[in-house]
Amino acid sequence: MRSYERHLVTKFSDLGLAEMLLRALDREGYETPTSIQDQAIPLLMQGRDLLGIAQTGTGKTAAFALPILNRLIADRQRPAPFTARVLVLAPTRELAAQIADSFRTYGQFLRPSVGVIVGGVSHRPQNDMLARGLDVLVATPGRLLDHLGSGRFKLAATEVLVLDEADHMLDLGFIVPIRQIVAKLPKQRQTLLFSATMPKEIAGLAQDMLNNPAEVSVAPTATTAERVEQHVFLVDGAAKRDMLVELMSGADVSRAIVFTRTKRGADRVAQHLDAAGVGVEAIHGNKSQSQRIRALDGFRRGRTRVLVATDIAARGIDVDGVTHVVNYELPETPEAYVHRIGRTARAGASGRAFSLCDNGERGLLRQIEKATRQTLAFTDRRSADARNADAEPARHNPRAPRAGAAKDDGGRGAQQRPHREGQQLDGHRPGGKRPARAAQGRKRRPFNGESRPQFSRPG
Ligand code: AMP
Repeated sequence: MRSYERHLVTKFSDLGLAEMLLRALDREGYETPTSIQDQAIPLLMQGRDLLGIAQTGTGKTAAFALPILNRLIADRQRPAPFTARVLVLAPTRELAAQIADSFRTYGQFLRPSVGVIVGGVSHRPQNDMLARGLDVLVATPGRLLDHLGSGRFKLAATEVLVLDEADHMLDLGFIVPIRQIVAKLPKQRQTLLFSATMPKEIAGLAQDMLNNPAEVSVAPTATTAERVEQHVFLVDGAAKRDMLVELMSGADVSRAIVFTRTKRGADRVAQHLDAAGVGVEAIHGNKSQSQRIRALDGFRRGRTRVLVATDIAARGIDVDGVTHVVNYELPETPEAYVHRIGRTARAGASGRAFSLCDNGERGLLRQIEKATRQTLAFTDRRSADARNADAEPARHNPRAPRAGAAKDDGGRGAQQRPHREGQQLDGHRPGGKRPARAAQGRKRRPFNGESRPQFSRPG
């Protein structure tokens, strides 16, 4: 079923999900299902196999986790030792951990047993975990095969298989291991395969694994990362404060959020900006509720031009017209990066993100590049004034990560062409559709035919 033209706004409560799940979604602040959720959940609740063309950031994890949890709620049984009722295969450790967290979050009132099996850590605790039996096992293929080969763990009782980011699995050389794993699963099962793109190897895998699958695809959704003009400055930690003052003095900076990692950092940065004559307020967990409300109100009304915030304090801040976001320090996770920069360029507006990266933060930058599938070249401070549009911003390049996905350099170095309005960036995608994004921030989306508003994640 290809139904990206659906314009009905469904509510989670319309999807037939158990009350326990609705409560968890409510607690997480999810108001409406995203397009992939709206399309996939009803099909999955009917027990159909599914081929999902969707990228991270579209809400695909909840699209599969919710119906799976619903199934566990409807048919509660303790998993037998050395078995898992649900198996999710993911290409990377980070994604595996993220998926497991999502199951725990959405299943917080059910408390399923959820385990992660990934490489790079010792086998022993993993064996013990598998020995107890799991409701949901999230694994990377290599390490799972080790366990299947040497331990007593079996997949004979697995009811549901999810293969996430299949095209990324292909990039990492996991197709053969996946086929070996699939061969150990019962024929009678529900199978879901998600992929942002559909190279022929994945189409072949889908054909072999899925039984009369429903097909859902999310409308091409340009990502925040595509719409926000992103600049990264390589700058010494000690020089960041002055650079920030310089950046915030730009005439076009009418409403900016500066993110810092710590509360103390937020205070220090705010004091420095204040001393330099920039109208600023800080919000973080040590401020009283009334201080926070006052600061936010001033920011919303335009009395304060710059808001300095920690990630947690910035949760749920929904202010239109943020022209600039500054990462005073790079965030620990790419997800937080996408989140942060998604505070600007809302509702089709444009926005700029400046990241101040010192040498020690280059690793974090690489992770962001990989996750957001773009190259973030350093903007040269001397030759380019990033406050003016003529500085060349980093742009989304769907090919970059493909090439570099398995390598540590994340495809760096391939400086991209500047993006012009209307330029096609999606030549390799199936049907010429652009996949949707990341997460992340899971808050982002231009108006590109997608009927659904951008969802914003509470965190
Ligand atoms: P995913 O594409 O699964 O990586 O999800 C992207 C992000 O969106 C995750 O951080 C989710 O927490 C968040 N998210 C997923 N579905 C919704 C929704 N319906 N409303 C708000 N946030 C959501």
